[in-house]
Amino acid sequence: MTHYPESILKLIESLSKLPGIGKKTGERLALHILHAPDHEAARLASDILELKNTIKLCSTCFSLSDDKRCKICSDSMRDQSLICVVENPTDMAAIEKSHSFSGTYHILGGALSPIDGIGPDDIRIAELILRADPKQIHEIILATKTNVEGEATAAYIMDRLKKTQIKITRIASGIPMGSDLQYVDQLTMQKALEKRHGF
Ligand SMILES: [Zn+2]
Repeated sequence: MTHYPESILKLIESLSKLPGIGKKTGERLALHILHAPDHEAARLASDILELKNTIKLCSTCFSLSDDKRCKICSDSMRDQSLICVVENPTDMAAIEKSHSFSGTYHILGGALSPIDGIGPDDIRIAELILRADPKQIHEIILATKTNVEGEATAAYIMDRLKKTQIKITRIASGIPMGSDLQYVDQLTMQKALEKRHGF
């Protein structure tokens, strides 16, 4: 690969750092970009810059958003009294893809993991508790992952929200133990949400 000019090597190096892209795919992508029309290559570069410059976190649910409030939080067709708590934006995307949920979300930004030094103050639990006003919220679904950290996070949040009297549910364990929500198929996700249970 060293026979390439420096500028191509640099691009291959950058592309190889993307998840799931090794050196080989990085090389293929770099050559594709090299041979693509100028405007396409420029578009790709400007899309990446624009993404980094404009993306914000929704001030309500902390999902990725173009505006101060995301599309879901400002959609009157969505049930704003229903909050689905997830760890990451990818988990939210997986649930959205299943078309089985019409409420809103709360993105924690991770899960509790004492081993990694991640405690309640390191994820957005306080923000969730602030949102948990029984006059406005009638159910909170805990859809953290089904691994040890996800279960511990759900149990902790349940404990903190107990006294609000809001109905708290956990997604059903139809989702295989320890699996990443983003790899769960749509039907399984639909079932997990439908069969959610109380504590
Ligand atoms: Zn939002």
